[in-house]
Amino acid sequence: MPKRDYYEVLGVPRNATQEEIKKAFRRLARQYHPDVNKDKDAEAKFKEINEAYEVLSDEQKRAAYDRYGHTGAQGPGGFGGEGFSDINDIFSEFFGGFARASAQSRRAPRRGADLRYDLRIDFLEAVFGTQKEIEVTRSKTCPRCNGTGAEPGTFPTRCRTCNGTGEVRRVQQSILGAFVNVMTCPTCNGTGEVINVPCRECGGRKQVRATQRLVVNIPAGVDTGTQIRLNGEGEPGINGGPPGNLYVVINVASHPFFRRKDDDIIIELSINIAQAALGDEIEVPTVDGKEKLVIPPGTQSGSVFRIKGKGVPHLRRNSRGDQLVLVNVQVPTNLTAEQRRLLIELSKTLGREVVPQQEKGFFDKLRDAFGV
Ligand SMILES: [Zn+2]
Ligand SMILES: [Zn+2]
Repeated sequence: MPKRDYYEVLGVPRNATQEEIKKAFRRLARQYHPDVNKDKDAEAKFKEINEAYEVLSDEQKRAAYDRYGHTGAQGPGGFGGEGFSDINDIFSEFFGGFARASAQSRRAPRRGADLRYDLRIDFLEAVFGTQKEIEVTRSKTCPRCNGTGAEPGTFPTRCRTCNGTGEVRRVQQSILGAFVNVMTCPTCNGTGEVINVPCRECGGRKQVRATQRLVVNIPAGVDTGTQIRLNGEGEPGINGGPPGNLYVVINVASHPFFRRKDDDIIIELSINIAQAALGDEIEVPTVDGKEKLVIPPGTQSGSVFRIKGKGVPHLRRNSRGDQLVLVNVQVPTNLTAEQRRLLIELSKTLGREVVPQQEKGFFDKLRDAFGV
């Protein structure tokens, strides 16, 4: 049977653009694909379309064909027999493209999952940074089977249900016409292969759980909620994909007297009325040790003093926050006779001589409260 003219086969003019050729090919491929079209001529027609497209979609082959006809296109540099799988790929764009994608993704390299590890550290460890050893349980490639899932000495074989493609196709009739239903192969779950003798260690799952110790470097200045990323320390990748990351999430314990507000450290300090009135130089604890602080005369309760640069280091920067000292003026209790006398003297100089009240004991307070 003499070959038909390729332009005629695709129904396009001789000066058709590549776009027009592709469009015509797609339309015809849909119409005559043997999965859809059960006419006995369909397959031959489909091959003819495929062949025509192979030549006309390649500018070099097309030029040879234009010049020498069929012999030209079949000469050196002409087409081989590999077009059929390509046409299947193009065809799947119309039908079941999604199913194909999912079947492929089962075998495609995939990045491993990210892991989270919550780590509690002390207040001062957060301020100055530290190193911590943690234990992480995660999957790793099975060492016995090297991740094949097959017992050493045996090999996975090609799945016979899907012939290794990982998907099965069924033609279904519907009111809109026939369409091909592409599904993930139920025998091999889309992997295209079947493990006949599962590995004894992983049971064919290709991965095993393992606990490993890791050292985490915690930089100075972290706070609750800071995440430290350990690249590649998450779950291993699948099908040769890269591993995920491990995120260490910091939780900072509180301190008996240092509090933190962003990168400032707050401390509360009590002074007596004499210190408040006359001023004083006192020692204040900081995260670096004791620091001198001048309390000016006339300091009121609730005053805040700032000690520069004694706060928390700014994370990954070369500077620090401040320490804030919140001062409470303590009114003395349980006065001695001498103290009472001095305060009465003082009160006279302040414009009003006080009438000291007897300090009430526990039973006096009870009486006042309940009238008993
Ligand atoms: Zn194994
Ligand atoms: Zn299969």
